[in-house]
Amino acid sequence: MSELNDKVSRWVRPEVRALNAYHVVDAAGLVKLDAMENPYAWPQVLRDEWLDLLRQVELNRYPDPSSTVLKKQLRESFAIPDGSGLLLGNGSDELIQLIAMTLAGSGRTVLAPEPSFSMYPMIATFVGMKYVGVPLRRNDFALDMGAMLAAIEQHQPVLIFLSYPNNPTGNLLEEAQVVEIIKAAPGLVVVDEAYTAFAEGSLMGRMAEFDNLLVMRTLSKLGLAGLRLGFLMGPPAWLQEFDKLRLPYNINVLIQVSARFALTHGELFEVQTRQIRQDREMLWQQLEALEGIHPFPSHANFILFRVPAGRALELFEGIKARGVLIRNLHGSSPLLEDCLRVTVGTPDENSAFITALSDALGLPL
Ligand SMILES: *Cc1c(COP(=O)(O)O)cnc(C)c1O
Repeated sequence: MSELNDKVSRWVRPEVRALNAYHVVDAAGLVKLDAMENPYAWPQVLRDEWLDLLRQVELNRYPDPSSTVLKKQLRESFAIPDGSGLLLGNGSDELIQLIAMTLAGSGRTVLAPEPSFSMYPMIATFVGMKYVGVPLRRNDFALDMGAMLAAIEQHQPVLIFLSYPNNPTGNLLEEAQVVEIIKAAPGLVVVDEAYTAFAEGSLMGRMAEFDNLLVMRTLSKLGLAGLRLGFLMGPPAWLQEFDKLRLPYNINVLIQVSARFALTHGELFEVQTRQIRQDREMLWQQLEALEGIHPFPSHANFILFRVPAGRALELFEGIKARGVLIRNLHGSSPLLEDCLRVTVGTPDENSAFITALSDALGLPL
């Protein structure tokens, strides 16, 4: 056994041994408001139609390696500009990895505001790149432009990620500031629009203006988290390079068939996301009304909120003990002290959460 351990420590890259594997809490039996999933299933008629399609799938055959039909459907559904390239990933996480692998090199830097999506620093580490996190402003999580521009000047990052809206804070960065960063960046800027269905704003319409802007989206937060489909748009010259590192059949037949089917029923996702946006406002008001709770404005399908100092872990556990799983962010970044994050669920799930939180706080119900 110790010989085995010796071999592992001798040969596994030190930076990999130092990592902790991405941890997902077991949600069995709990109301699941931790992962920004759309809480709504499909109506039975649609499920039946979808299952009919799956029956015809030939699992003994490899999928279309370039997902031709699905790409056509995506271009139509999301009005992707004609001049833009399109690259698909097994979730946008895979696209982040592809971009990073393509640009990796010793001494090269990935830069992003802090706090932001945890996969940016993780994947930078996976591929051996340096990661620089530039703190957002403390009170409203807006970009600190002085600090961003200085960090860009100093580190000359090959790659900048901007989550638009930002996870886990929920705010939408200023478009004019994003553009200023694109102009100042020596390398690529990836605008990650995972939450665009819940926001008013996108850089997609401005892609033609810049040769270093990529816009990334995913079907996960829209309502298809189980499917794993992300897509990347921007100048074909960049995407062709990433495509060389893509494993040939990363988008399997079940994804291709199911995503095509789902996108032909886009109106369903519109209804669901509109409902989630409305319920987000209601949930925000309810949080705001609780003594000691400070919710931050959100343009996504989750709300970040601050709890009384020193009580984040206790309240997170108290809410969980009452049957609702959310996310504790205290300790993950200096700016997220005493912060928890809740996904907007169904109206019933949201009230279960508010009841659990009030009760854990010791407030009268
Ligand atoms: C959830 C999330 C993703 C990952 O989406 P997948 O397509 O499910 O891999 C990417 N970026 C941000 C900011 C996210 O919150």
